[in-house]
Parts: sequence; structure tokens; C-alpha cells
Amino acid sequence: MEKELEKIKEKCLICTKCSLSKTRTNIVFSDGVPNNKLVLVGEAPGYWEDQKGKPFVGKAGQLLDKIFESVGLSRTEHVYICNTLKCRPPENRDPLPDEKVACKEYLDAQLEILKPKIILICGRVALNTFLPDKGSITKVRGQWFNGPNGAKMMPIFHPSYLLRNDSKEKGSPKWLMWQDIKEIKRVYDEL
Ligand code: URA
Repeated sequence: MEKELEKIKEKCLICTKCSLSKTRTNIVFSDGVPNNKLVLVGEAPGYWEDQKGKPFVGKAGQLLDKIFESVGLSRTEHVYICNTLKCRPPENRDPLPDEKVACKEYLDAQLEILKPKIILICGRVALNTFLPDKGSITKVRGQWFNGPNGAKMMPIFHPSYLLRNDSKEKGSPKWLMWQDIKEIKRVYDEL
């Protein structure tokens, strides 16, 4: 698994398929442990991710780690993390359609190698990549969908969105995330 992933990473390191290759500092390929149970797909690298070459290392990443830790999961032991784009869009703008198309090959290859049983689709941009016709993240988060190779896929809120919505009251985004991570852990434990 690791060797095959390394080959894809090497392709990304020299990729010039879209213009983001001109502005990136580093490609951001993945973090966490390659495994066939749990993979999270986020949006695209931000400033710190581009600097460090690792996904989810900023404030949103710290919150993501806390969410996993709340149910005993961690990126050092259980989760593989990657993004729909491997390079940072300037000023953190939304990925453009041609950038998503260019980069999809690498994400598909990662998922084909890992064949994860659970894929977490983190946020609006990732949702549009996997389930473009399903409507808004608010509508579909917390629901299971069929994914590649028999995977169960669940859209979840992006941690950046949770950072902007501080309430923990019943029905708030943070409260909904807590329901979702408990459901994810329930299914994870059954695998
Ligand atoms: N947001 C994402 O979606 N991915 C990252 O790697 C960092 C922030």
C-alpha cells in the first residue's frame, strides 16, 4: 500500500497539469496512516498546509484532531487524510473546475489503492466532487451514501465552518458534528 501511494505522490511532486503548480510551495499529498478503514477527504491546502506539505495543520486541522480524539480516533493511528486538490489555490479561493478535473486522477488513485470502507467527505467542496447532485452540505451531512469499491461515504461539516459557529447547543453545527462523529465511530467499530 505505502509503495503504491509513494508512486502517486511522486507523480504529484512533478505535476504541472494545472496552473496551481506555478504558485505552490509544496504539494500536500496526505497525512495519517494508510489503511483500509477510514479516509477523510478535505477541500484543498491552505497557507500552512502549503508551507508544511501536510493537510489540516492549521486551526481547522487542530479542531479536526479534537473531533476524532473525542471518539478515540487519531491521525497517528486510525485515519488517512487527503484533499480534493494537492496544491493550494491562491488566497484560499475555491478550486476551479479545471483544477478539480486535473487533480481528480490522484485522489481516485489514492482511494483505489486504499479501498477504504468509510470515506468522510469533509465540507462543501469535497461534497461537490463526490456527490455533485445532492444539494447543500447542511442537507446531507450525517447521511451515508454509497462510494467507490463499496465504501460507505458520509458528508460532514468542514472544521473551518465549525470554527465560525461557536454554539454547542442542540441543533448547532458543532452539536450536529458530535452526532456525526459518534455515528461514524459506531460504524467503524462494526467493521
Ligand atoms: N482545509 C482543507 O480542506 N484541507 C486542508 O488540508 C486544510 C484546510
